[in-house]
Amino acid sequence: MPRRRPSALRRLVLLTCAAAVAIYVAGRALPALGEDGHLVVRWWGALALYAVGGLSCLVRAAVAEPRQRLPWALLGAGILLFGAGSLAHLLSGDRGAHVPAAALVGWLALYPLGYAALLLLMRERLRPFTLSLSLDGLLGGLTLAAVCAAIVRADIDGIPFSHVLAGLAYPVADVLLLVLALWGLAATGWRDRSWLVMSAALAALTAGDIAVGVQVARDHYEALSAASATYPIALVGLGAAAWFAVAPRRPPRPDALAVLVLPAACAAAILAVLALDGSAALPRWIGLVALVVIGCRAALGFRELSALQVSRRFERGFEEAAIGMAIISEDLRWVRVNAKLAQMLGRGADELRGAPILASIHPDDHHLSHRIADRLLAGAPPPPPERRLVSADGTVIDVVVSAVLIEGEDGAPQFFSQFSDVTGRRRSERHAEALAELSRVALDLHDADELAAAVCAGVRDAMPADACVLLPPGAAPGAASGPMLTAPVRRRATGPATLTAHRRLPATGFHDQDVQFLQAAANLLGTALDRASIEGELREQALTDPLTGLANRSFLAAHLEHATAAAARGGEVALLLLDLDRFKVVNDTLGHRAGDELLRVVAERLRAAVRPSDVVARLGGDEFVVAWTAAQPEAEELPALAQRVLDAIAAPCVVDGQELHVTASAGLAVSGSEPATAETLLRDADVAMYRAKEHGGAGCEVFDAGLRARVVRRMAIEGELRRAIEADELRLHLQPVVDLATFALTGFEALVRWEHPERGLIGPDEFVGVAEETGLVVPLGRWVLQEATSALAELQARTSEPLRMAVNLSARQLTPALVADVRAAAAAAGVRPRDLTLEVTETLLVDGAAAVDVLTDLRAMGVAIALDDFGTGWSSLGALQRHPVDVLKLDRSLVAPAAASPAASALVRAAVEMARALGLLVVAEGIEDAAQLQAMQALACPRGQGFLFSRPMPLAEALEIAVAGAIVPAALA
Ligand code: C2E
Ligand code: CA
Ligand code: CA
Repeated sequence: MPRRRPSALRRLVLLTCAAAVAIYVAGRALPALGEDGHLVVRWWGALALYAVGGLSCLVRAAVAEPRQRLPWALLGAGILLFGAGSLAHLLSGDRGAHVPAAALVGWLALYPLGYAALLLLMRERLRPFTLSLSLDGLLGGLTLAAVCAAIVRADIDGIPFSHVLAGLAYPVADVLLLVLALWGLAATGWRDRSWLVMSAALAALTAGDIAVGVQVARDHYEALSAASATYPIALVGLGAAAWFAVAPRRPPRPDALAVLVLPAACAAAILAVLALDGSAALPRWIGLVALVVIGCRAALGFRELSALQVSRRFERGFEEAAIGMAIISEDLRWVRVNAKLAQMLGRGADELRGAPILASIHPDDHHLSHRIADRLLAGAPPPPPERRLVSADGTVIDVVVSAVLIEGEDGAPQFFSQFSDVTGRRRSERHAEALAELSRVALDLHDADELAAAVCAGVRDAMPADACVLLPPGAAPGAASGPMLTAPVRRRATGPATLTAHRRLPATGFHDQDVQFLQAAANLLGTALDRASIEGELREQALTDPLTGLANRSFLAAHLEHATAAAARGGEVALLLLDLDRFKVVNDTLGHRAGDELLRVVAERLRAAVRPSDVVARLGGDEFVVAWTAAQPEAEELPALAQRVLDAIAAPCVVDGQELHVTASAGLAVSGSEPATAETLLRDADVAMYRAKEHGGAGCEVFDAGLRARVVRRMAIEGELRRAIEADELRLHLQPVVDLATFALTGFEALVRWEHPERGLIGPDEFVGVAEETGLVVPLGRWVLQEATSALAELQARTSEPLRMAVNLSARQLTPALVADVRAAAAAAGVRPRDLTLEVTETLLVDGAAAVDVLTDLRAMGVAIALDDFGTGWSSLGALQRHPVDVLKLDRSLVAPAAASPAASALVRAAVEMARALGLLVVAEGIEDAAQLQAMQALACPRGQGFLFSRPMPLAEALEIAVAGAIVPAALA
């Protein structure tokens, strides 16, 4: 326990000192001891006290820390030597003023040793120690000496100079020591006990020496006078002083006044002495020496002063620096902190002094602070200088730290550190990085919600903020418990939305840079949202039908592709393809605007008839598709659903002021067990839809195995038909047309057949449709024309009557080229065009003005035009007069029931009467039995054809009938 030993020792030593002094004083004063006893005490007691004082210092030196050993040892030695001087004096036996030289040497040795000891103590205790301090001691002593010399001058007149010098030398030397001790006492704020005891001891010594000095000067020296008692007591006091506590030095406040006051005062005193009594040698000599010291002291003072100014400038620079500055102790505590750093840390500079710096450094950066200290102490280059400080309110401050190693006032290493606040720079770097990242992210996002979420997340991270939300236009931000920032998000079409950022308390408010950043983020978001919405519009435009707003063909294709791919993994896709019946009529008669209006109405009805998840598309023209993909209805429900859609369309609607009854034909296709693609589904639905058209429209056909087989066959036919025309596999059969009144043969209808090498004779229903779809019907039709005209030529050659030949036409044949073909065929066969009849259906007629022009040209050539299949479509009798026709062919579906149904017979009667009124010839088709014949005869239908008379037959048989000239039905024969 090294600390306890000095403390116990201290008590022991101090007690010894006190006891020694008490015994000595008592020994000198107690009358009981008598003259001799007193003498012994005075001589030997004093020697004992010198020993106590000196040993006290030496013991102190032995237990002191290394730096304090020397001063105490020196002082102890000085005291012991003083004692030795006294011993020499005692042993010399001389009690007068003639003191042996050895005694003088011992006594005087106390002064240089004491002076050196005090200077060393001051250097040790009073940091920073300056040379001027030691000079101040010298100066004070000399000045006092000069003043004393001047005062006692009158008394010492006539006394030999050597006596005067000897009398004054001790007091002067005492005063030098005293001034030094007082200076030390003053520097510690007059509180330091050690300096205090030392000053008191030295004051006693001075007083004693002055008294003795006066005795010596007057030559009344008395070796054991009362005055001499001060010596041992004072020196024990010095020894005791070694054991008193040392107060810390007050912070130095040297200024011009303090530096100059003492020398100036001393100089003034000496000048006054010299001026008053310049002739006296002693004061003059002392005064001159003092003046030299004053000069030195003043010079040093000025140097210190300028150093002080430098340090003042440093002080001010330190205090008022725009960056944070601090002196940090080796154990990482704040020694001094300037105002800026204190402000950064949100604490008072005094409050921080002595506090550990790590409390103000971000926990993640503690290791850096340790490292910088270690490296500086090891002389290695410091680690990266970036740190985060944490202020009292929790704000994180980015700083760049530079630190250098300095020596502190107590000689211990310290760090002088500068902290530049780079929070602003970091913040703007962070903001810039965030904006760059956001604009990159925004390019990849197309959804408004995702964009807003991304920007809000970016703002939260970079700002940073506890919350960030995008408020829709018109919404006001709610009351927040912490600081809040808002920035308008300007949009192309809508009013500005608001981007808000919010920090919870306790937190610092937002910085100007945050305001700018939030606005930049808001602008970025506004632009990105606009871009996304424009992209969305463009995408929509690309995928929707502009007329109806329904999905368009490309959307449907993409959707079906997706849906069929999903269906391949399980599930079904159902497709309803719709085609309006008679849409052409509406377009032609009411105009395109009305047609568009009708399409829009139909689109609306389709949308209303299905669920929102079902896709409704317009493929173009009057073709629509309903696709059930999302939630697939049960297969059994589908026909009902299709019917509901058809019913919705069929409800009367008013377009352009006219009430219209529109129907549609629909084909339903379902991706069944077989893998389906969008393409096959649409094709199947199309086939089914055509089937519905064939059945008269206004209905729905389901694509099924039968239809599929038909499709397959059709596809096979398509390939073969081309070859068949080249290979001359087509045959022409002729069906007689007779006068129903006389049964006389009036002509034939040419009906094409295909004599397939493997499948035998194939009827036109199987391949004419395919030929129409593929365009093959044009060469086929030309072949039929040529074959029919040449057949007519042969037939006419066998009869006297001018037989007619009727040839069926397809829509695609009705081009201006047909007129030339007909003329060429007639010319080539050598028949008159007026013996030819060309049969067309009404669908074909309503297909536009061009077709009508072709027919008009043909009629001009003399060719008769027949309206085929009357009664199957939508022909109204009124429409007859609008068409350039000469013959009306009543369809079998009208002829067959005419015998039984009054309604059908009424319609036939009206048609016949109307035709007669218009000058048209009426031909009843498909008369199969006598009843039908009689019905037609009763209705006054002039012509007829049908199995009752004859099936279509090859030319060879037709020639025989032509020769006969009439066909009497077997049933009547
Ligand atoms: P279409 O012009 O209405 O021809 C009359 C159809 O009725 C013929 O069928 C004929 O054989 C059939 N038929 C005649 N009498 C009766 C009867 O009493 N009962 C029944 N059940 N049927 C009867 P086919 O020959 O099969 O021709 C079918 C359709 O093919 C024709 O109908 C016509 O539209 C078309 N077609 C025939 N040949 C040609 C041609 O060379 N060119 C074009 N473009 N179409 C043709
Ligand atoms: Ca026909
Ligand atoms: Ca017909």
